[in-house]
Amino acid sequence: MDDVLALKESVLLYLDRSGGLVKLVQDCELFNGPQQSEAVYRFCVAVNPSDVMELDPMLGDRVLHDPLTATRLFRSVCFISIKTLCLIEKIHTENQVNIILKWTHLPPFPEYTLDLQVTPRHYVTARPLAMEGLVVAVTRTTKYTQGARFLCTDEDCPCSTGFHHVRLHRPGATESATVRNDFGCLVCRSPLKEDVKFRVLGDKQLVELIHVGVLDLLNVHPQSSLRFQSVTLFLREGDIEDTDTTTKREIALKCLILNMGESVEDLIKEFLVPPSVPSRNAVQLVAPLADELCHSMRLGHLYRVLGVPAHVHQWPSVTWSVEANSVRPWEPVYPHQVSEDIQALLKATVCSPWRFPGLLAHSFGCDVVPPGRYNTLKLALLLSLVQTAPDTDDTAHSLDLLALAADTLLIERLMAYSLSLAVRGVRHQLQGELFASLSRDEHGAAAANIHAGSALLASGGVCMLGDLGAYRKDKLDAIQSVLESRAVGVFVPGRKYGEEADQQLSFPVQCSFWALADATEGLLRKAGARGDSVLLGTVEMGPKPSQLAGSFGLLVRCADPVGGEGALAQTTHTLRQALGPACQPLYPASIQVPFQDYKEFLAHARLLRVELSSGAEKMIHGYYMASRRVRSDQNHGAKVSVGSVKLLITLAEAHCKLCLRTTVQEEDALLAVLLCENSIILRHGASVLVIPPDAAFPCDLGGDEEALSRREGLLGDLQQDLLRFIYAYAPGADSYITEE
Ligand SMILES: [Zn+2]
Repeated sequence: MDDVLALKESVLLYLDRSGGLVKLVQDCELFNGPQQSEAVYRFCVAVNPSDVMELDPMLGDRVLHDPLTATRLFRSVCFISIKTLCLIEKIHTENQVNIILKWTHLPPFPEYTLDLQVTPRHYVTARPLAMEGLVVAVTRTTKYTQGARFLCTDEDCPCSTGFHHVRLHRPGATESATVRNDFGCLVCRSPLKEDVKFRVLGDKQLVELIHVGVLDLLNVHPQSSLRFQSVTLFLREGDIEDTDTTTKREIALKCLILNMGESVEDLIKEFLVPPSVPSRNAVQLVAPLADELCHSMRLGHLYRVLGVPAHVHQWPSVTWSVEANSVRPWEPVYPHQVSEDIQALLKATVCSPWRFPGLLAHSFGCDVVPPGRYNTLKLALLLSLVQTAPDTDDTAHSLDLLALAADTLLIERLMAYSLSLAVRGVRHQLQGELFASLSRDEHGAAAANIHAGSALLASGGVCMLGDLGAYRKDKLDAIQSVLESRAVGVFVPGRKYGEEADQQLSFPVQCSFWALADATEGLLRKAGARGDSVLLGTVEMGPKPSQLAGSFGLLVRCADPVGGEGALAQTTHTLRQALGPACQPLYPASIQVPFQDYKEFLAHARLLRVELSSGAEKMIHGYYMASRRVRSDQNHGAKVSVGSVKLLITLAEAHCKLCLRTTVQEEDALLAVLLCENSIILRHGASVLVIPPDAAFPCDLGGDEEALSRREGLLGDLQQDLLRFIYAYAPGADSYITEE
């Protein structure tokens, strides 16, 4: 008994020191509305385990290893405080206080970490653990009972009135554990009956979390025998129903003004500061509302979760799930370093801004194709790779690619190779779901469970679609619509999933798509001409092919030199590779960058923050204006879409990152324009801006100094051509382009 008293003293001391008491006073104000009378009053208490441990190790032990007891201690102290300070008039018994302990963090030791990869999951006592993982499915929010008041049916019993029997939700408990009709009175054993008008509801959402290692599995062909098991998280939150955030903030604001007696204007000013801006009061003000867990996790994103594992008994089976306590976005740290070899190469190529990325593209993927083959595609793949960003960053631009080639198998291999260099690469399998699928939730929530498909799982990375020729027409339509809107729409039929009305949900898509198509079939041919496309069955689809191709940002034609030289080089390459490493190295070491070096180099380039120089901006703007003017006619209007400005900027920025610079130069912009113009020519035919079919690589590189200089000379000429083109066709261009 003395122990308990000492522990309660420590709780009070901790609440006082940590500001918990002040917060309690504020929270209580929310419940003192004129008509509010509740069965249960819910409070979230932030607990910093290190501080508690320092204050009282016994209490610290309870907080970390026996949270139910710790919660009881906090509940008792909070109830006494509420009664002593007369914070809530209508509260009667301690039973009505529902305390949710929110751990600020957990000790960084393996005992407090749950590895989602480890199975089977043994019985562990209900204590908080930290886990990290990827969200693969979420449900819609549904209601759960936070607390309910029960009355004794025997009228002479003291429990027939008042708040003696109040049942609260416990982590891991099912709905029937809180509300049922066969409870008995603890005093007289008569049956209990729920007082329905006092039932307190809250929102809950179920989320499937899986070990991040599953991403390696999605990257390769699914020949692996590895299996991953996801964990169900329960996200639950407070009971302020039918009040949106603004009203809640208003209520909180009112109480603060009452309590603090500060100048109202100052408070309002500080209150309106967004929570991310550190401000003395903003932190405190937002804190009472910060326990909202529902909708805090997005499909395909990574999170670090503190939660309490629990076994849920659902006759006849027992399931294992986790009650989330706090959720934070998580981004693993990837090794990113520029190896000495690459640094040396960078140093040796400073003479021209085009040389380093040119050489990279030349030698890239020499495990799959001989150096020098498909340079433009390889450059485009590298550019797309540096433009993927961690999934916490919403500002990054994606770079979608469609490659047209005669040898689709080779291009598919090259793409698969590049995919393994992406921060996150998901290779879509035809039999799998590309966007999202629905199932019925299996945990008794009776809500629709939305599963992420390949595109959503690739958030912040690349989703490789493979050969478009293998897709059905309706899938191609869906791909086009997602590429254009950058969002996945999910229709939830209400009747099927126990909801009142049908729902249309939308999930943002944050990945780059890579696809390829057979160029020998007339993908880009207009309807009517030879309507025999394997990919698109032109007769059926009409002008669709051009539209689908157009919805990919960048079209790249992978041409082979006439006369079968490419095929010969490929055959030699494959045969020499088949002889294995015993044979002498295939190519000079200078152009064979090891895979890991490439990966780290790209990770480094990806993290760079770049900005446009005014010269680059003017060139992009001028080209856009001029080509829009050149390519418009009376029948169709402008053929160059507004989206191409974004594409041009994305390409120029990527080229700049690939050179490890932070300011986008005119030379970067030129490369962007050449890639973009080649892509537009494939769709709409040539214009007055005459450029070679592979404008980024106008001549064979061959790897020697002379060829590199020749390429740079040709690119220089193209830059002059481009400036002349802008000068001639972009109105007002002369005011911002200085002709050389
Ligand atoms: Zn009774």
